[in-house]
Amino acid sequence: MELTTEQQDIIKVIRDFVDRDVLPKASEFDHADEFPESMVETLRELGLFGITIPEQYGGLGLDLTTYALVIKELSRGWISLAGVVNTHFMSAWMIENFGTEEQRQRYLPRMATGELRSAYSMTEPHAGSDVQAIRTRATADGDGFRIDGQKMWATNGLRAGMIMLLAVTDADADPRHRGMTAFIVEKDAETHEQPGLIVPPQLKKLGYKGVESTELVFDGFHVDRDAVLGGEEGLNQGFKYFMAAVELGRVNVGARAVGLATSAFEAAIRYAQQRETFGKRISQHQAIQLKLAQMGTKIRAAELMVIDAAQRKASGDRADLEAGMAKLFATETAQECVVEAMRIHGGYGYSQEFVVERLYRDAPLLILGEGTNEIQQLLIARRLLEQYAI
Ligand SMILES: Cc1cc2nc3c(=O)[nH]c(=O)nc-3n(C[C@H](O)[C@H](O)[C@H](O)COP(=O)(O)OP(=O)(O)OC[C@H]3O[C@@H](n4cnc5c(N)ncnc54)[C@H](O)[C@@H]3O)c2cc1C
Repeated sequence: MELTTEQQDIIKVIRDFVDRDVLPKASEFDHADEFPESMVETLRELGLFGITIPEQYGGLGLDLTTYALVIKELSRGWISLAGVVNTHFMSAWMIENFGTEEQRQRYLPRMATGELRSAYSMTEPHAGSDVQAIRTRATADGDGFRIDGQKMWATNGLRAGMIMLLAVTDADADPRHRGMTAFIVEKDAETHEQPGLIVPPQLKKLGYKGVESTELVFDGFHVDRDAVLGGEEGLNQGFKYFMAAVELGRVNVGARAVGLATSAFEAAIRYAQQRETFGKRISQHQAIQLKLAQMGTKIRAAELMVIDAAQRKASGDRADLEAGMAKLFATETAQECVVEAMRIHGGYGYSQEFVVERLYRDAPLLILGEGTNEIQQLLIARRLLEQYAI
C-alpha cells in the first residue's frame, strides 16, 4: 500500500492531533458523555468537514482512500469523532453526486467549512435492516411537502443544521423502494422543538458517547419542493441514493474498525511489555504472543481490505461486495481485538483507568451500524452466488 506524499502529510497531521488532543481526553469525555466541542472545532479548522467536497465548492477535494485513512486515524483516538463527521460526509457525497447544481451551490460551501453539519436518517423505530419498511411520509402540500413520522438513531440528530432524510412519497409503489424520496431537511441546530419537529433528549447508549443519537419526531413539518434531492428527477429515487451512500458508510465503518482495533492493539502490546507475572514480562509468555500475532495480522488484513474497497468505490465501479467484505472483516476483527486486549490487561482492562474499557463498549456499534454483519453476510453471499452461478 503506497501512500502519496500528500496522504502521508495529512495522516501525520491527524495522528499528531489524536496523540496530543484526543487520546489523553477521550475517555474523560466518554465517561461524562460530553460533546467534544474543542476537538470538533479542530476538525473544522483542519477542513475535515469538507474533506471530499470538490475544491470548486470550498472543500479539500480529496479522494475516498485518503478519507478512509483519516477516519482510521481519528478512530484510533475515538470513534465518536468519526461519527460526527460521517453522516455529514455521506450527505455531502449524496448532494455532490445526486443533487442539482443549485443544491450543490446552496449547501456544499457551508458544509465544507462545517458551518452547516448534516445528519443522515433512514432508520425508524420498527425498521432498521428492512429499510423498505419505513413509514415516514412526505405528502404533497401546497408548494412543498408535509413530513410526518418518526425516525430513530439519528447520529448528530440535535446539533446538525440539516438532515438527509428518507421518506415515502408514493405509498402504493410496488416494490416499495420505488416510492421513496431523499429530502434535504433544514432545521435549527441545538433546538429540541421547532414547528413540526421534536428532537427528544438523546438516547442513552453503551458506548459511542459524546456524539448524540436521537429520535426525530416529524408532525406536519413543511419543506419546500426544492428540498427533494435531485429536484423533480429525484422524486421516488431516494432509496437508490441512500443505498449508494451506505456503501460509502461501510467503507467508513471498516476504517473506524481498523482505527479502533489499532488502538486496542497498541494498548495491549504496550501493557504486555510492562506487566510481569511469574518472573517475566507477560509479552514473554507464548499465550500472550499468540494473541498479539493474531491481532496484528488481522488488523493489517482489515486495513488492506478497507483501502481496496475505498479505491474500488472511488473508481466508480460497483463496490458493494468489496465494501461489504471489508466492513464485515474489519468490524469482527475490532470486536475480537478489544476482547483480546481486555484479556491481556487482566483485571485492569476492566478499570475505567485504562482505554480498553472504552474500546470494549465502542466496538459493538461497528458490528451493527451501516447494516448489521448478518445482513452484510447475506449481501456478500448473494453477490458471490451471482458471480459463481452455474
Ligand atoms: C449508535 C447508533 C447510531 C446509529 N446511527 C444511525 C444514523 O445516523 N442513521 C440511521 O439511519 N441509522 C442509524 N443507526 C441505525 C442502525 O443502522 C440500525 O440499528 C441497524 O441497521 C440495525 O437495524 P435494527 O436496529 O432495526 O435491527 P433489526 O433490523 O431489527 O435487526 C435485529 C437482528 O435481526 C437480524 N436480521 C434482520 N433481518 C435479517 C435477515 N433478513 N436475515 C438474518 N438476520 C436478520 C439483524 O442482523 C439483527 O441481528 C444507528 C444505530 C446505532 C445503535
